Parts: sequence; structure tokens; C-alpha cells
Amino acid sequence: MQDVLNTIDGRQSAAVSGEWLDDADPALGETYARVASSDARDVEKAVAAAVRAFPSWSRTPAMQRSRMLRRLARLIERDLEELARAESIDSGKPLSAARAVDIPRAVQNFDFFADAATQFASEAHPTDESALNYTLRQPLGAVGCISPWNLPLYLLTWKIAPALAAGNCVVAKPSEVTPMTASMLGELSIEAGMPPGVLNVVQGLGPRAGAPLCKHADVKAISFTGSTRVGNEIAREAAASFKKISLEMGGKNPTLIFADADLRTAIPETVRAAFSNTGQICLCGSRILIEKGVYPRVRDELVERVRALRVGDPLDARTEQGALVSRQHFDKVMGCLQVAREEGGRVLCGGGRARVEGRCANGFFIQPTLIEGLSAACRTNQEEIFGPVATLLPFETGEEAVSLANSTRYGLAASLWTRDLSRAHKVSAALHSGIVWVNCWMLRDLRTPFGGMKDSGVGREGGMDAMRFFTEAKNVCVKL
Ligand code: NAD
Repeated sequence: MQDVLNTIDGRQSAAVSGEWLDDADPALGETYARVASSDARDVEKAVAAAVRAFPSWSRTPAMQRSRMLRRLARLIERDLEELARAESIDSGKPLSAARAVDIPRAVQNFDFFADAATQFASEAHPTDESALNYTLRQPLGAVGCISPWNLPLYLLTWKIAPALAAGNCVVAKPSEVTPMTASMLGELSIEAGMPPGVLNVVQGLGPRAGAPLCKHADVKAISFTGSTRVGNEIAREAAASFKKISLEMGGKNPTLIFADADLRTAIPETVRAAFSNTGQICLCGSRILIEKGVYPRVRDELVERVRALRVGDPLDARTEQGALVSRQHFDKVMGCLQVAREEGGRVLCGGGRARVEGRCANGFFIQPTLIEGLSAACRTNQEEIFGPVATLLPFETGEEAVSLANSTRYGLAASLWTRDLSRAHKVSAALHSGIVWVNCWMLRDLRTPFGGMKDSGVGREGGMDAMRFFTEAKNVCVKL
């Protein structure tokens, strides 16, 4: 049994309590490792280490901080295969995806913010000839980064990298469901020569390890990615000490397919948008809105493609759909399928557990599922399922499409497919969504603002938005 440890003050350690949590391989349905179950005492040690490290790290020249981030990127690159395998086993995602997407993106995050460290600048506001205002952007101090299980190393490093680049010291709390690669990152940071206390990783449960971090008076900001329910709790936990918060939360994203779209691209990309990472990406398009004239054709082609998706052993190179992340999440998604049936949904394909032969016979696999015949207002079309389940809804006009798209409490991402340029711009402007993709999905430029509207988010990550979040703006006014 492997031990998944904390990294605090430049050392890897078990939790102060000496307690452990089970870490399961969801493709096998078996525990394979144990995770340090940290509590407020571990958080206290990590925050104290971060506070001690801050004066020196924040004064380290940007070029040197940048070099340190790059060193970490190179070590992740060196261990790419080992990290990808660990991510696949911990989360159930296909090894091919971890190798091609998750771990390379962690490398990119450190490289990208290594550049940002040296390129970050601030504004000046000359007041006629009477004064000069300039803005200092100073790092905050010790900051908390809390991440979910769906893209474990990818999303954790997306927070850690800008925080460090801007000169902060970090206490990271990865998901207890997928803690393995965060522990490996902690080890790599020690190998990279990161000064003790600059990057700390505290493993454990949300309420036991995450909540004390959010409440800690010496933690100046919390950057969180996860569910809307927990985001709400975190906002309350952090409010007492007026921390800066950035919340990236749930989604119920629409894909809008207009009749004039290039369907040869729109259909396969809609499948990719709905079922990538087994539908466990906050950006997945789980409500597919289709203009009536092309509804039958699009539906039939979608069904054909979704039926053909290969569910199987995540370590098998041919697998396209891996396991769901945990027994608990599997049960939740199976419950959602039951609700969809009770609401009168017609299951077009999938609809139940997927049986995988051999070593994965007890794994948490679900068939990729498409459902039609549901109202936009029903639970299935309103609540985030976060699994391999998408619904189809017809629309007649552009106005109706926008109104259906905007009909949930979420507003993270949308993709729309049309050849009509004017419509593309008008619909993009009308959608209540932080991100709109036109004739594509998940085409990312890391400089762009990333985040959601409504119950999907508070604040924006990405590029200079992240650097601004992790710094305090101070205006200096000099009378001339
Ligand atoms: P979650 O909200 O259950 O957990 C996220 C993290 O918060 C975990 O590390 C957890 O331990 C911690 N946590 C839980 N309770 C806490 C508390 N009281 N105080 C502090 N920390 C606490 O989310 P999840 O199930 O791991 O991930 C799935 C969710 O994440 C989905 O809703 C998905 O949409 C969302 N997500 C959003 C984005 C985005 O960019 N908007 C990206 C990926 C995932």
C-alpha cells in the first residue's frame, strides 16, 4: 500500500493525527493507497511555513522565481509517463488522456506563468501635470489553492503557478479523491530546490483540512475550483477574515447547433464536448440544443457516434471512456439516470452501468448516454450531472435557443455552431456564459479570462487576471 503524504516546510510527512484515508483505483473498485488525513494542526504548520518563507520568496527577483517554475516544469516533463500513469490509476481516466492532456498541461501551466512572472506590469495614471499615480502590484502572502478531482494536477498547477509567479507562498489542498499527483508534485518541488515553505501540500478531507485553511487569519486569498455547493461554503468560511476569493464552480453548459452549421465538424465535436473525460469536465456541453430542421439527422448521427465510444480499462491504449472517479460519484450519476427516466426522458443510447471484462470487472463504469424528450425546466436539464450523460432539446428560433441556453442557474461555458457570422456574434453576446466557443470547443489560449457567470463562478483565472488576483493593487500618488 502506497502512502500519499503532505509536503510541509520542504519535507514530506504523514498527518499530525497519524490518521489515513483510503485512496481507490476506480477502474478496479479497490483501495490501493492511503492518504494522510490532515486537520487544522497540519494546516497550521503549513501556513506558518508559508508565512516564514514569504519575505524571502516575495523579494526573490522575478527572473529567479521564473527559473524555479521552469525547473519544476522540466521535472514534471521528465516524469511525464510516471505522473500520467499515477493520474490514470487515481482518477480512472484513460492513460492516453493523462499522457496527452493532463500532465502536459501541468507543464504548460508552470512554463506559462514562468513567463508571466517576468512580463507582469502595472498601470500609471498621470493626472494632467499635477500628479503621477502608479499602481504597485504586491504579492499577498500565504494563499490557499483548493482543487477538485476531475483534472487533478492540471487544475492544481493552474492555481499554484500564478500564485508562486506573483511572489506568494502556497498552501495547496488537492482533492482527497485524487491526491496522488499532488503528493508527487510536492516531492518534485523539493527536488527542484524550492525553498522550504514556498509550496506546501496538505492532503485530506474538505471540512477537516480545507475549511481550516479557508478560515485561517494568515491566509490572504483562496483560489477554489470545485462544486457550487462547496464554493458557497468557502465564500462563507473566507468572509470572516475578508479574504480575496476566486471561485470556479459547476456548469450545465449548452451546445447550440444551428441548421446552417458545418455538421461534419459540429457533430463529432459535440460528442467530444459532452463525453471528454467521461463528461467530468466543468466545460462539458451536457445540454445539446438542435435547430428543428436538422434535429433528426443530428440526433441519429450523435447516437451512432456515442454508441461507438469505447468504454474500457483506462490503461488500455484503445480506451476512449474510462471509469467514473469513485463509487460515490458512480452512484450519483446512476441516480441521475433514474431521475431522467422518471421525468419522462427517452434514453437513446446507454443509460446504465457499463460492464468491462477482466481486471476492471468491479470498476465504476457507465455507458455514454443520450436522452431526449425532457423539458428544459426538469431536474435533468437544470442540475449538474458531471458524468457521461447529455440531453437533446430542439429549438425553432435563435431567440428560443438563447433562452433555453440561459435557462439554468449556471453560466460557465457554451459552444455554438453556425456559419452565419452575424448570428455567431449576436448569440455570443446574448449568452449568460463566461466562455463562448464558436465552431469549436475547448480551444484554449491561456492568456484569456477564464471563469463563469451566475452560480458558476466569482472572478476570473488565466493570464494576467490570475496575476492580478494573486496581488494587491496599491496606488501611489506623487504630487508633481
Ligand atoms: P468539491 O466541491 O466536492 O471539492 C472540491 C475541493 O474542495 C476538494 O479539494 C474538497 O476536499 C474541498 N472542500 C470540500 N469541502 C470544503 C470545505 N468546506 N472547505 C474547504 N474545502 C472544501 O468538487 P469535486 O466533486 O471535487 O469536483 C467536481 C466539481 O468541480 C463539479 O461541480 C465541477 O463542475 C467543478 N469544476 C469546476 C471547474 C471550473 O473551472 N469552473 C473545473 C473543474 C471542476
